Amino acid sequence: MTAPRNWAGNIAFGCARMETPSSVAELQRLVARERRVRAIGTRHSFNDLADTPGVLVSLAGLPPETEVDSAARTVRVAAGMRYAELAPRLDREGYALPNLGSLPHISVAGACATATHGSGVRNGCLATAVSGLEMVTADGDLVTVDRRTGHFDGMVVGLGALGVVTALTLDLVPAFETRQRVYEGLPLEALDEHFAELTAAAYSVCLFTDWRAPRFTQVWINERTDEAETTVVKEPWFTAEPATVELHPVSGFSAASCTPQLGLPGRWFERLPHFRPDFEPSSAGDELHSEYMVPAGEAVNALRSLDRIRALIQPVLQICEVRTVAADELWMSPFYREDSVSIHFTWIADTEAVLPVVRLVEERLEPSRATPHWAKVFTTPPETLRSRYPRSPDFARLVREYDPAGTFGNAFVDRYLS
Ligand SMILES: Cc1cc2nc3c(=O)[nH]c(=O)nc-3n(C[C@H](O)[C@H](O)[C@H](O)COP(=O)(O)OP(=O)(O)OC[C@H]3O[C@@H](n4cnc5c(N)ncnc54)[C@H](O)[C@@H]3O)c2cc1C
Repeated sequence: MTAPRNWAGNIAFGCARMETPSSVAELQRLVARERRVRAIGTRHSFNDLADTPGVLVSLAGLPPETEVDSAARTVRVAAGMRYAELAPRLDREGYALPNLGSLPHISVAGACATATHGSGVRNGCLATAVSGLEMVTADGDLVTVDRRTGHFDGMVVGLGALGVVTALTLDLVPAFETRQRVYEGLPLEALDEHFAELTAAAYSVCLFTDWRAPRFTQVWINERTDEAETTVVKEPWFTAEPATVELHPVSGFSAASCTPQLGLPGRWFERLPHFRPDFEPSSAGDELHSEYMVPAGEAVNALRSLDRIRALIQPVLQICEVRTVAADELWMSPFYREDSVSIHFTWIADTEAVLPVVRLVEERLEPSRATPHWAKVFTTPPETLRSRYPRSPDFARLVREYDPAGTFGNAFVDRYLS
């Protein structure tokens, strides 16, 4: 068997084989039988988080069911579904999710298991919408947990270490529209005085820089059309000028893969992600990602530290994106009890050239208590990583309770989570 790879191709999974069960009962029998198992979603992670020496199980063969409960304002979703399939179904029924990541192609279970996020000072990561989980545990049992379960906050960002999630229940909000505008050329110094104001100016604000100069090349602003904050956005926006054509965050790439801009109102799921579901994003996998979360109050210091090494970052960088994420209560979320700013790097697809820069970025962001994204490239030492998660001993206990024989364990879990 040729080793299956992740979306970016930088990880060759070491699994013995892959399985795609077509029913939950089949999945239960498989998990009960096998010594080592790990769930895989749409493979958009950039490290060995999803790997296993045993059987890699995809849920893509389970029926893509969704079941809206209007009274509870929730939806029960088959875990392997992608946001790209889920969002239009919800919209048709008059509902929305509060937020989405930049890419709608990712699976709901994989995104929630890794605390994937979008932007917005009032928006938590995507896992904060999870109010219930159905999961196959190591002995093949199907368990259901929800917010009334004592340690539920420890299970949602489960990193695949507690079992195979078969369905999630997500909180819904009424469907809404946003309009997306892109502004060009915001000097870094504008952030010194105005960071909080800038990032709170609309429902979702994302800043992009190529670090070729101390400025943001683009600022993407999504305003809800039903909120008064619409009036906050002026032209020019601070000193950034409104773009007159649609843009891709990476200079020179076609905007055809990007969601509509220029202030055209549209459905929430057709504006909040950066990329359209019918296109592959930017370089179609020819990229590596890293991302670091810092407490919101550290954001300007962190960005200033990066500005001092921009000459070293820039040669291996495609684009850097800055977003905000609201605090939550999820034990293994990097946003646990901390309103945060995420600093994301889309690197060129050259691990050897990128890794020394990743190390340098981590060194410079250490004073800002940077926490890496679980699903991206990082070299943060395990003890540093664990120290960022006050509930990691509780999570390790939960893993031992749910999975005493280490069925869902792998090298990543051994390194960072035990
Ligand atoms: C182009 C691109 C854009 C991205 N944009 C963003 C972004 O805007 N914001 C952000 O925060 N991240 C972003 N990411 C990262 C991405 O959201 C994460 O890698 C996420 O985990 C992807 O989901 P997946 O289904 O591909 O997960 P996979 O990589 O398949 O798996 C990730 C983890 O989830 C676990 N898992 C998957 N399915 C299950 C299940 N059914 N039960 C239990 N565990 C499961 C796996 O075991 C593994 O540990 C981006 C990645 C790419 C490639």
